[in-house]
Amino acid sequence: MSRQKSQPDLKALLDKVLIDFPPVKRTKADPVQFPRWFFEQGRSSVEIEAVALYSAMLAYGSAAQFIKKIEQTMQACNRNFLATITGDQAETFAWPAYRLSTAHEIGIFARAVGRVINRHKSIRHAFNEGFNLRQNLQDGLTSLQRAIIEEAEAIENPLPRGLRHLLPDPAAGGCAKRWHMFMRWMARPEDGVDMGLWPEVKPSQLLIPLDRHISRIARNLGLTTRASDDWKTAEEISAKLKEFSPEDPIKYDFSLCHLGIAGECTHGKDQNLCRRCLLYPACRAGKV
Ligand code: SF4
Repeated sequence: MSRQKSQPDLKALLDKVLIDFPPVKRTKADPVQFPRWFFEQGRSSVEIEAVALYSAMLAYGSAAQFIKKIEQTMQACNRNFLATITGDQAETFAWPAYRLSTAHEIGIFARAVGRVINRHKSIRHAFNEGFNLRQNLQDGLTSLQRAIIEEAEAIENPLPRGLRHLLPDPAAGGCAKRWHMFMRWMARPEDGVDMGLWPEVKPSQLLIPLDRHISRIARNLGLTTRASDDWKTAEEISAKLKEFSPEDPIKYDFSLCHLGIAGECTHGKDQNLCRRCLLYPACRAGKV
């Protein structure tokens, strides 16, 4: 017979996950390791942003696989990423193929980012052209995405499908996980993981990088009632997390992400695992 769980303090539980599983220890299994390397080497912010965008947009599917592909790129260009994408060699560079995108399509993406940098001076400038209108994150991301699409179209028109997959439209209402992950890296203050390069975006404006795992965990924790994994759901979860940390709600991405990516959450299928989970007292899927 099940008994009623007592009212758990979800904030305290999420904080405990952050303490027990420090995010900084997880960077080696995360695509942020690539921009972090450039950051720690004191490379220009223009290059760090470019590496971050390339790494974020390839970060779907199996982490082991996309990390291998990004590493392959960094090795092939001898870690001179900015010079590679902004120079003539970008056209003949050995870009990797990855899942839904051919090497040719990934090459167009990287070259288009290089052309945005050549035209706007940096990715950040292209973002700020939209963001500064209303201090709105979606406007900024849309401005950046459109600037890259425009440059990609100058290389090849119509755009191939595998390229569009790399650059989802932030205004289309989807969860835009990879864009929000990129923004987290740029806007959260330097903490050994994120890099705080874009202080004009307040951490309180960020949205959670949402995927299927995170949304299921969030539903089980009562952070959202929405059934779809879209922009509005990311907003609803982020608003809830703001109640726990008004200035920096997305720090809790690490608490939820740890359970999702690490494959430790089976969403209630393995109750033995649930009983060992720090979020168990607050989780509907963890039965008492
Ligand atoms: S209690 Fe179980 S279902 Fe809930 S978050 Fe933890 S592992 Fe996942």
